[in-house]
Amino acid sequence: MFIKDIYESKKPVISFEIFPPNERYPVEKVYDTIDELVKLSPDFISVTYGAGGTTRGRTVEIASRIKKVNNVEVLAHLTCIGADKVEIDGILDELKENGINNVLALRGDYPNDGSIPEGDFKYAHQLVKQIKERGGFSIGGAFYPEGHQESNDLMDLFHLKRKAEEGTDFLISQIFFDNSYFYDFKEKAKKLEIDVPLVAGIMPVTDARQIKRITALCGSSIPPKFQRILDRYENNPEALKDAGIAYAVEQIVDLISSGVDGIHLYTMNKVDTTQKIMDAIANLRIAL
Ligand code: FAD
Repeated sequence: MFIKDIYESKKPVISFEIFPPNERYPVEKVYDTIDELVKLSPDFISVTYGAGGTTRGRTVEIASRIKKVNNVEVLAHLTCIGADKVEIDGILDELKENGINNVLALRGDYPNDGSIPEGDFKYAHQLVKQIKERGGFSIGGAFYPEGHQESNDLMDLFHLKRKAEEGTDFLISQIFFDNSYFYDFKEKAKKLEIDVPLVAGIMPVTDARQIKRITALCGSSIPPKFQRILDRYENNPEALKDAGIAYAVEQIVDLISSGVDGIHLYTMNKVDTTQKIMDAIANLRIAL
């Protein structure tokens, strides 16, 4: 099934993001996690690509297993920075052969040393164009409610419009901890006639060190209300976990009440956290 059709058929669509285990560990390590996550009935599961030091080949392998064994729709992330067109075509072939027809088309982050890898792509919209021309895929893209670190907000919006025009069917957001960024962004996107589903990416924070690293990487800001939680419970993991889950649930309830197209949960491969969130919003999901 194309994910664009899922967004057309229900609201809110609830999706989970998982990442492949590091190469040092067997790939099967993540399968138990996925089997448990599937029991929470996500509308689809996305699998990251080359993010956080994980290797790229595993994305196709894991996505195929989700589709074939778990029988759940899957979204394969794909980054283009440093790749050439033939390489990308090869990966698209592999996805096709495995019955995967949904791709999240991304540029990818530059390496930490500041170098810019050589290749056929500079921006995600070029990858969207190649996938679109090839046909047979529903294509998603990323967006940044607080703007992307490399552009000013206005330019970032114009670049996003181009990405949408090249053929993205839906857009999934970077994490944010203050819903007003998402709502403001939605208004601006509407004015620019970016009219594909805008999906809210929500990450339950259960680890103070992890969130410092992630926000430094992706540029999402921490509002005072959330900073107070981090300050108070930094050294009390159980309390921080409870508070982090409650905070994420509050964000999600507000977003669903406001008619959001979808919630994309960055699960960080944590079943218990995801389970608690899904339990807390179970009736909201049915009611809408
Ligand atoms: P782009 O859309 O290309 O934008 C990147 C920057 O270039 C922006 O500042 C934009 O304004 C600017 N820009 C775009 N077009 C132009 C143009 N024509 N001229 C000048 N400037 C332009 N990373 C991974 O490595 N693996 C993953 O699996 C992964 N999954 C992600 C999932 C989501 C939902 C999100 C939000 C991010 C994910 N990322 C992943 C991180 C992503 O690769 C980075 O955020 C990256 O820095 C930007 O990717 P993009 O696809 O948004 O790039």
